[in-house]
Amino acid sequence: MPKFEYAPAPESRAIVSLRESYGLFIDGEFSPGVDGRAFKTISPATEEVLAEVTEAGPADVDRAVTAARKAYEHTWSQLPGRERAKYLFRIARIVQERARELAVLESLDNGKPIRESRDVDIPLVAAHFFYHAGWADKLEYAGYGPAPRPLGVAGQVIPWNFPLLMLAWKIAPALACGNTVVLKPAETTPLTALTFAEICQQADLPPGVVNIVTGAGETGRALVEHPGIDKVAFTGSTEVGREIARACASSRKKVTLELGGKAANIVFEDAPIDQAVEGIVNGIFFNQGHVCCAGSRLLVQESVYPEIIASLQRRLATLRLGDPLDKNTDVGAINSAAQLAKIRELSEVGEAEGAQRWSPPCELPVKGFWFPPTVFTGVSQAHRIAREEIFGPVLSVLTFRTPAEALEKANNTPYGLSAGVWTEKGSLILWMASRLRAGVVWANTFNKFDPTSPFGGYKESGYGREGGRHGLEAYLDV
Ligand code: NAD
Repeated sequence: MPKFEYAPAPESRAIVSLRESYGLFIDGEFSPGVDGRAFKTISPATEEVLAEVTEAGPADVDRAVTAARKAYEHTWSQLPGRERAKYLFRIARIVQERARELAVLESLDNGKPIRESRDVDIPLVAAHFFYHAGWADKLEYAGYGPAPRPLGVAGQVIPWNFPLLMLAWKIAPALACGNTVVLKPAETTPLTALTFAEICQQADLPPGVVNIVTGAGETGRALVEHPGIDKVAFTGSTEVGREIARACASSRKKVTLELGGKAANIVFEDAPIDQAVEGIVNGIFFNQGHVCCAGSRLLVQESVYPEIIASLQRRLATLRLGDPLDKNTDVGAINSAAQLAKIRELSEVGEAEGAQRWSPPCELPVKGFWFPPTVFTGVSQAHRIAREEIFGPVLSVLTFRTPAEALEKANNTPYGLSAGVWTEKGSLILWMASRLRAGVVWANTFNKFDPTSPFGGYKESGYGREGGRHGLEAYLDV
């Protein structure tokens, strides 16, 4: 059958006005770094340089922490909750007003399809600020005592997969609880965080309440190890999370870590197959698989295995890979050359270890960083692609016969961030959910996020929760 072709439908980038270079956002103003170092951020879809960004050194981090301390002591912690709430509401409204600009900027800097940044990332950013604005004057009802106190200054380090959304997960609860922050975005995706700094100015947020320092691992280290920080919140790899936990172990800092994952997406034979296939696709190909809670291990009951694989392959052949700014695009660019190299390496290991690799026919753009949607079948539990996080559009498929076997295999991982269960039986969903060692268990859906719902890991996926009432605890002295 001839395939129906879509005309290109690119979102205009005219709405974004990029500056040639960005300073650090400290004490309510943009300022140059002390030692004048800078790095470039590029579009992963085209390798075009988007802007030059300041690399903050220890002296800059120190300035930012000092500003945050001053704002904490003299302004923010003195304000009643209802006043803090007004600022959070204002920020949420400005995010909504500037949603299209933020979505285009996120897709440019990160490579994710505009459909996702526009319909998922940015609406959730606004939702996190609205939700936490609601908490700011009701903290005494959160279950942490009659007058829960903030911690002080939070040092927050975030990854590149959901740049502005991870910022919202960190900054909204911190501010709602009365803390001030110094946040470091990932080095490959600093632009929406810097635009968020402008939003703080637009909202008249008192200077020093939010400070944004850009840079790579060294800047992150200087921040989390700074003695003036009371709380460290980190989202990123398990490896760096371990390092941070070690560095903070001998201090009084309160630490929360959101780390990697290798989630099982479990499909039972009575599951609605078409919906399950959509859920599998959403589970691993959403955001190019750059999702800590991605359903990267598909466990399929043997009786429906051939049907699921055939249907999945048919569906994957319809995915459109290409320009992130095209509204028809399903799969965008891989965020960086380094991440692409990691995905390629682990995929080669998968083949070498004996799994069968499949991708739909898919033309990759010549410039930029791209990887086709990929499915590995014949995967065993010992394979590295079944154990290690690939953090890309690569699915490893395993099979099982009984619920007990599915459970055993699903829990056989050092991680424990999320899991999915597909079945018509409510009792089986409950049986599995109460035994799966994962922070989030989705039933007949996957990758659904909501600010009211706590998110976080078991085991090597980290500790602490973000979102919901539970997430407030990370920013209160309880
Ligand atoms: P990464 O750990 O290399 O980097 C994350 C952030 O930490 C970046 O801002 C980086 O500059 C900074 N950093 C690096 N070294 C540091 C150090 N020594 N001290 C302080 N900061 C340092 O991770 P990544 O490759 O950018 O992100 C992908 C990882 O993040 C994946 O493993 C993914 O599973 C995880 N992740 C987890 C969640 C979650 O909620 N659990 C969400 C998104 C991503």
